[in-house]
Amino acid sequence: MSLAFPARVSLARLPTPLQPLDRISEKYSKPYGGPRIWVKRDDLTESGMSGNKLRKLEFVAGAALEQGCDTLITCGGIQSNHCRTTALVGARLGLRVQLILRGQHSGAADGNLLLDELAGAIVAFYPPGQYFSQLEQLFDHWRGYHAQLGHKSLSIPTGASDGLGIWGYIAGVQELLEDCRNAGFEPEHIVCATGSGGTQAGLTLGAHIAGVRTHVTGFAVCDSADYFRRKVLEDVGQWRQATGSNVDERALDIRVNEHYIGPGYALAEEPVYRAISEAARLEGLILDPVYTGKAFYGLLQELSKGTYSDCDNLVFVHTGGQFGLFPHREHFSFPP
Ligand SMILES: *Cc1c(COP(=O)(O)O)cnc(C)c1O
Repeated sequence: MSLAFPARVSLARLPTPLQPLDRISEKYSKPYGGPRIWVKRDDLTESGMSGNKLRKLEFVAGAALEQGCDTLITCGGIQSNHCRTTALVGARLGLRVQLILRGQHSGAADGNLLLDELAGAIVAFYPPGQYFSQLEQLFDHWRGYHAQLGHKSLSIPTGASDGLGIWGYIAGVQELLEDCRNAGFEPEHIVCATGSGGTQAGLTLGAHIAGVRTHVTGFAVCDSADYFRRKVLEDVGQWRQATGSNVDERALDIRVNEHYIGPGYALAEEPVYRAISEAARLEGLILDPVYTGKAFYGLLQELSKGTYSDCDNLVFVHTGGQFGLFPHREHFSFPP
């Protein structure tokens, strides 16, 4: 199936590298008869704009410019990677950026928030209760505010996960599968952290369209497997309506692992911090406690249970998030 991609602004350094994690595989996969573990380095899509959100925002920025918008409005937690990426993309393209952030903040900005401020984004903070119950009204409020000042804004949903952002990983999985072909294999499994669902939706739909045998599994970092199955179907449904594609989303193989969420979004226990430390020591790979570290910890656990012992190659998509590591610095004070 040939795909008619919409407007896209080239922002990411593509293709990102595909690398084997042989020291990890040796210690955590081979003893259980598991596959060779590879990593798709989407933490290297850019420097400040690093991570998975940049692939989605290439298409969101394309739509914003096409529609003549000069302002981007989006939302997330105080340490949102998506908001930081949007702030930097806006700076790069000369678009104003309004961020609606969840949580209280005092003292010096750290991690992603520091970069939001450096990039000149306008930030507004809301307590979680208000944020979750009034998010739509908050978008309306800020859209109205900027309109009054004479600006036209584009609203981007959480994580840029919708029928437009999904294009990022439809393209991303084409790239990943080609990397694998060049390395001489077709992966049986692709694994990623799933938070607002759009990365998983794009990978799943893209692999389906490509007609490969590859299974995509999202390791949930917040909500349940049911939630993510619904969310992936919703994003794919929006995409199908926008494109007029005849893909039947009921035929999609949507796999979610909900066993490693831990205490909740952005909350992790010591095993996750230990897995982050192990990835750094064995492979020089920097993971974060909110997304990639949690998913990676889950993957190591599943490998030790023999979940993936039927296959030869598994690709972990490193979705970025390294700036979110630093605000968690106090959690790394465990004995080695
Ligand atoms: C947002 C994010 C994810 C999750 O991607 P979604 O498309 O929101 O599910 C994973 N890892 C990192 C580092 C992220 O910032």
